[in-house]
Amino acid sequence: MSGRGLLRRCKFCGKEIKPAEGMMYVKSDGTIWYFCSSKCRKNMINLRRSPKRFKWASV
Ligand SMILES: [Zn+2]
Repeated sequence: MSGRGLLRRCKFCGKEIKPAEGMMYVKSDGTIWYFCSSKCRKNMINLRRSPKRFKWASV
């Protein structure tokens, strides 16, 4: 295997992503984001779409 040192980090939580794991999200402008899980991907995209503040605690 090659590519040592190219470890990617989750755009949302900052966790390191193993080569066989995670997922990629390509924005319309060509920017590529990597996420460790679909949960992080959804959170990041939802945060960007919503102008409201994200609430961690559900009522
Ligand atoms: Zn993550």
